[in-house]
Amino acid sequence: MEESKSQLLAYLALIDRNLDELEEEFGDLPQKVSEQEAKNKTLKATVKETEQILEEVKEFCSVTKVTLEDMKIKEDKLSQQQFQVRNNKEFDAITSEIKHVKEESKMLTEKLRQETIKQQNLERILDEQNAELISSKEELKNTKKELVEVQEEQDEEKAEYIERREKIISKIDKPSLDKYNRVREYHSDAAVKVKKNSCSGCFSSIPPQLIVEMRSDDDILYTCENCARILIPEEIEVSEADVETI
Ligand SMILES: [Zn+2]
Repeated sequence: MEESKSQLLAYLALIDRNLDELEEEFGDLPQKVSEQEAKNKTLKATVKETEQILEEVKEFCSVTKVTLEDMKIKEDKLSQQQFQVRNNKEFDAITSEIKHVKEESKMLTEKLRQETIKQQNLERILDEQNAELISSKEELKNTKKELVEVQEEQDEEKAEYIERREKIISKIDKPSLDKYNRVREYHSDAAVKVKKNSCSGCFSSIPPQLIVEMRSDDDILYTCENCARILIPEEIEVSEADVETI
């Protein structure tokens, strides 16, 4: 049998409702995945930043240790030289130099002490950040797994709906399909039945004249004046079983 335009759109609306319901089964999983991916990215950047700072502190500590050893050697050398001076002036000059090296060395030792504490703190922070990253990665893995499980459950059903949808679409003329798609942008239920002379999408009543016109020809598409949804005449009955026979 040849289906009317209204009937085909009613079938299409039914299939789209089923597909929308399948999509709803995902719940907030897709949202969760993208949020957790963003969180992971931030955590990775934080770990990298901490690693860089830690590297710099470590580098400073190892360079400073060598510098302090050199200064110790220099100090010892100066102390030796003090025994070989020829006059007081030379003695004073070396004494002043030793004093300077000692002060410098004291300052560097204090700086090294502070940086060593900093290094220990950074290592602890890095451990914590890495642990957080690991648990965040685990969380993301689990959410993705849940998502895939829902997908796999739906696969067969969804493929079937899509196949039926293609068949129906092939029978609908382009202007009608375009019209349906345009309404779909605003209302997921783009084609709705007339019930008790009202639009079942927005519940506003339909002028009697329009009802009469719709009855006379269900191959013309009428839309609700209030919400712009496509109106399916009340007498058109559409069931899942009907869709399967298309
Ligand atoms: Zn309406």
